[in-house]
Amino acid sequence: MTGHQTGNQDLTQRWQGALMNNYGTPRLPLVRGAGTTVWDAEGRAYTDFVGGIATNALGHAHPAIVDAVSKQIASLGHVSNLFIAEPPIALAERLLQLFGREGRVFFCNSGAEANEAAFKIGRLTGRTHVVATEGGFHGRTMGALALTGQPAKQDPFRPLPGDVTHVPYGDAQALAAAVTDETALVIIEPIQGENGVVVPPAGYLKAARAITAATGALLVLDEVQTGVGRTGTWFAYQAHEGVLPDVVTLAKQLGGGLPLGATVAFGRAAELLGPGQHGTTFGGNPVACAAGLAVLDTIEGEGLLENVKRQGEKLRAGIEALGHPLVGHVRGAGLLLGIVLTGPRAHEVQQAAQEAGFLVNAPAPDVVRLMPPLNLRDDEAGALLQALPGILDAGGDGRSGE
Ligand code: PMP
Repeated sequence: MTGHQTGNQDLTQRWQGALMNNYGTPRLPLVRGAGTTVWDAEGRAYTDFVGGIATNALGHAHPAIVDAVSKQIASLGHVSNLFIAEPPIALAERLLQLFGREGRVFFCNSGAEANEAAFKIGRLTGRTHVVATEGGFHGRTMGALALTGQPAKQDPFRPLPGDVTHVPYGDAQALAAAVTDETALVIIEPIQGENGVVVPPAGYLKAARAITAATGALLVLDEVQTGVGRTGTWFAYQAHEGVLPDVVTLAKQLGGGLPLGATVAFGRAAELLGPGQHGTTFGGNPVACAAGLAVLDTIEGEGLLENVKRQGEKLRAGIEALGHPLVGHVRGAGLLLGIVLTGPRAHEVQQAAQEAGFLVNAPAPDVVRLMPPLNLRDDEAGALLQALPGILDAGGDGRSGE
């Protein structure tokens, strides 16, 4: 907190005078958090089902994160890439163990950056063509934006890095038709988060693996939103049989609130980046990596994969059982859920939820997204279910974010 702290309206005004307006006016200034609860500048509490957009894996102020970060910053801060430190080594070893495969990890600071590294790894195959999906989201830097399949976000910035073909998501035939012997990589989200929690048909990832294997293209899975326990397995693809990607990109909840991204490569993809070919000053930062280790240890130690499955099912079944006329169905996996509405009322629902003390998000006009911390409690899920009929009945307006 700054000595300058004021109410919601004052903070919003100061924000307008000091920060770029690239996100549009924010919904609410938040000043404190504990677990799944956050407080605004006027002391009002909210149960946070946005979770920093699937980022606060353990909620706010989890003792394991506080302790790991405090100890690390008190002993060794940043070392640069000219030296090595233990935390990134330990985190890479731990990630590879969770993947159950040999590989190599490149650490960075965000999802976009993790995908940039994957893009460059693809170029080092000697091929340039990339296949990505319509509606897909991979980040806002120029390379990641070229992979993203959302023209409204891309158009003002063309020309973007080229030779990218976008195909309809979930359509294995379209994918097979687009991938050639010249294709360097195919990048796919196991579930399209930003596009509204879109789940592909069963067998899609397996088909993508077979198609890429047949032509020698790398299969890159963007698990920035789905990875690290979000969907009830360590990585979303692990729920699908017969899918072994060449590259997996991670960020968001890997750092448990600290900026931490990772590009994890296996097999020949792990050998492509050579000395001097890529880097980022903060990549492998010991403090961020210490937080990452605390996240993984806590997910394991507190049985959070089970919790994700249990709370996710409870929410899904509970929301569908409401039988509310505005609810079509609920899609997603684990604690990445999209409530698909029967009309374009997601912004109104988001606003009504906020007024009722729950933060949710509207990635599409007819989809309300839930992505709370992985340690969401029974009573917190229950409180949302209880409040939801009133929230769905109410109206208002709001905005989306990523
Ligand atoms: N990939 C996916 C699947 C994402 O959901 C996001 C962020 N919403 C990104 C990449 C970009 O991550 P970052 O904002 O950390 O750059």
